[in-house]
Amino acid sequence: MSTSLPQPRTSPAFLPTLTTHAHLRIHAAQVVDGAGVDYSPGALLIETSTGTVRAAGRPGDPDLDAPAELDLGDCVVMPGLVNAHAHLDLSLMGATPPAQPFVDALAAFRQARIADPTQIVRAVTLGARKSLEAGVVAVGDIAGAIGTSLGLSAGVALAATPIWGMTLYEFFGIDIDEPQTRDRLAPALGLLGADDSGGAGLSPHAPYSVGPDAIGAARRFASDAGVPLVIHLAESPEEAELVASGRGPMRELLDSLGLWNDRVASKFGRGLSPIRHLQPHLGPGVTCIHVNQASDDDLDLLAASGAHVVYCPRASAHYGGERAFGPHRYREMMERGIPVALGTDSAANLPEGAMSPEGEGISILEEMRLLHRRDGADPRVLMRMATVDAARVIGLDQSRVRLGAGCRPLGLVAIEAPPGPGTPLERALRSGGRPFVLLGEKISRGTRIV
Ligand SMILES: [Zn+2]
Repeated sequence: MSTSLPQPRTSPAFLPTLTTHAHLRIHAAQVVDGAGVDYSPGALLIETSTGTVRAAGRPGDPDLDAPAELDLGDCVVMPGLVNAHAHLDLSLMGATPPAQPFVDALAAFRQARIADPTQIVRAVTLGARKSLEAGVVAVGDIAGAIGTSLGLSAGVALAATPIWGMTLYEFFGIDIDEPQTRDRLAPALGLLGADDSGGAGLSPHAPYSVGPDAIGAARRFASDAGVPLVIHLAESPEEAELVASGRGPMRELLDSLGLWNDRVASKFGRGLSPIRHLQPHLGPGVTCIHVNQASDDDLDLLAASGAHVVYCPRASAHYGGERAFGPHRYREMMERGIPVALGTDSAANLPEGAMSPEGEGISILEEMRLLHRRDGADPRVLMRMATVDAARVIGLDQSRVRLGAGCRPLGLVAIEAPPGPGTPLERALRSGGRPFVLLGEKISRGTRIV
């Protein structure tokens, strides 16, 4: 029996029917992942009890020669996507105006930060749903701190959703030493780890809000537990000014919060870039979020360190990263061997309406589309950034976002590719078509997704 492509949200009942088959053969215009699987037309054989790929190739190849149970016609089929950097606990926050001074954006975040655990759970749950609707099956999620308290409710909420989540417990502390850092992180230290259902890591917020001693201590805790450490870095001209000269709007902000003193001042004003400033703390397992500012020296240093980068294209555009520092150098980073993953950052920098019931959601696909449209980025490179490289950043086994035989993808995403020149993936990236998740182990256990 062949099943024609259902429209998202109108025929969601087709999945439980399909999972009654022991094996599911899928045919599509293209089957592609970020690790070398690329067949046009494409076919997959999936063992439905485990969600394991038994074969990937072309219709007619061995194991794929029987008629498809699910013929997806003009669609491109890819693994469920990974959002390497999100703030799901800000999902109830509306869009902020673009191009406002960065310190004003920080003030908006401080104001919007929710302290009520029930509301945090609501925000994270909504964020996870709006991620799934956008084809995202795994996320590196910052659990925002409320003052000196860690956002533990965000991690609990994310673990209860159908997506795989690495919760990164964020903390602040511009003037705390190692013992104070341990005290501050104590509620999270026992949670650090990762397994097949998700994980927990750490996020010192940024070099202008967390001092070097605290960043170093957090890195040791994360490294001992084998979990990611992520930090917002080299994002804004205000950050660059504070780090290089110890002056500017961020210094004024710290002053106004009563956080500026001689000890803090002594850490800044050495004429360094943010990346060079944090060089002693960069290394494998550390991920730098944004990196809008990157000189040749910074790129060399990043490449030598083994650190990863997450680029959030729409966030960089929203907050004026390109205007301040020029085009983002993500492709040069990859040429130098620095893994670069894609992230969305928070709902505050998404387009108006993205979080509405009909909105595109928290969409990595839209980040890919922007880079393809604006920069002519290679779709296969974008696939890598949105799957295997993002999985590395968040501590997820790469086989969960690949389609080769033996892999067990968390989900499959199908996007209709309208007629036109180019591969189905290229056409799907040029289109505005919505993705939908076809299956994953959570569906094979009975949970239905879009
Ligand atoms: Zn962020």
